[in-house]
Amino acid sequence: MSWLKLCTRWIGFLAVAVFAAQGAPVAPRLGTVTLGGQPYISLLGWGSIYNLGNRWDPKSSQLQLSNRWIHLEFKADTRRVDVDDVTINLSFPILRVGDRLYLALRDEETVLRPLLKPPRFPSGRKITTVALSPGHGGKDPGHIEGSRTEKYYTLQLAQEVQRQLQKSGLKVIMSRSTDDFVSLEDRPAIARKRGADLYLCIHFNSGGGAEAAQGLETYCLTPSGASSTNDRGNSGGTARTGNRWDHENLQLAYQLHRAILSEIDFADRGVRHSRFKELALAEMPAAYIEGGFMSNRDDARRIFSEAGRIKFAGAIVDGVMAFKRLVERGQPE
Ligand SMILES: [Zn+2]
Repeated sequence: MSWLKLCTRWIGFLAVAVFAAQGAPVAPRLGTVTLGGQPYISLLGWGSIYNLGNRWDPKSSQLQLSNRWIHLEFKADTRRVDVDDVTINLSFPILRVGDRLYLALRDEETVLRPLLKPPRFPSGRKITTVALSPGHGGKDPGHIEGSRTEKYYTLQLAQEVQRQLQKSGLKVIMSRSTDDFVSLEDRPAIARKRGADLYLCIHFNSGGGAEAAQGLETYCLTPSGASSTNDRGNSGGTARTGNRWDHENLQLAYQLHRAILSEIDFADRGVRHSRFKELALAEMPAAYIEGGFMSNRDDARRIFSEAGRIKFAGAIVDGVMAFKRLVERGQPE
């Protein structure tokens, strides 16, 4: 995506946000139907609340909702929405009844609403300190590909992100800055004690069943009552500490994913939901980047080279700054 296009989208995003700022929960306005045991709402009705035009193709069961700034695509029997050029995984499938598509109310609440009505920090609250948590370390190597360990490369990338964030004027807290083992419980605790405003985990994938598996995944904490992307159907469980930030978490994951995909030629494996321990325990908005597959030739080039890491870190910083502008918008500098 070009910068001009990105800027246009950005302005549009704010315009949609301002329009929707008065938005109340949609269920009372639209009414719900129960499908597969879940409350669902009509996507067409939902789009009209946000003044989105629609294009429905009954043959392919695809519905496009858009205005001049944002473009959403839904397809029956899939668990995803494409937002501009970015895939976001949903907890429940889009369902078709007659000539209408329906969206699970929980997906409206936890994905669509935070996208169209972005969260805003209370007045005066700013993002000044970012915690970075490079995956694994010490006795825990993470994935191993030949002589290469995930723990080494997560630290390399995190240190580059640290340098670039500091250059942008932000403070950085590292959950580890050496090859030491730090537990998944201790990491968010370090971030909390040292006053982090954001929390980012950095990992790489491997395997995935085929040499062909490749691409970027960006996770945020699964909201209560929703199901994790890699654990379909399990929507149980009580709210975790991090669920306090559900809307911010989704926006943070989305802004990171979008910035990285716009700058690096990764395959898009989507914004995803998970109950990873660090996300569950974080007491600030948090996201978890699986920055490609060490086992894939194209991804490996980005992970293992210094030039690849510098570019990757730059994209992560752009995502952080986009989120920062969004949640702080309207506040005096
Ligand atoms: Zn890992």
